[in-house]
Amino acid sequence: MEESERKEIESILKSSIKTTEEDLNGLKNLTKPIAPDNAIGRLSRMEAINEKSVNERAVVNAENKLQMLKEALRRLDKDEYGECLNCEEPIPKARLKVMPESTVCLKCAQARE
Ligand SMILES: [Zn+2]
Repeated sequence: MEESERKEIESILKSSIKTTEEDLNGLKNLTKPIAPDNAIGRLSRMEAINEKSVNERAVVNAENKLQMLKEALRRLDKDEYGECLNCEEPIPKARLKVMPESTVCLKCAQARE
């Protein structure tokens, strides 16, 4: 990978890490224990519980993404970044710019689903 591309990916990764960390902090505030009925206001307790579990899933997703982004940054440092872990073909730059945490090419990602 060329130095200019490496730098570009590095800055995309770093800003994605920052946004994901911010999202995660916001989401964690939404998954605090549910207060008793009278403290909830507009939402019923059941709705609040549903919402909490949606947010808890979002926390897990954000934590996974954060881990993948940090891992991608490590691979970038070690010059192992940008190769599909499955078929070892280079992952297209366009995909890396949209999903910098990608570890497989689009073809392999679709085959997995
Ligand atoms: Zn592949």
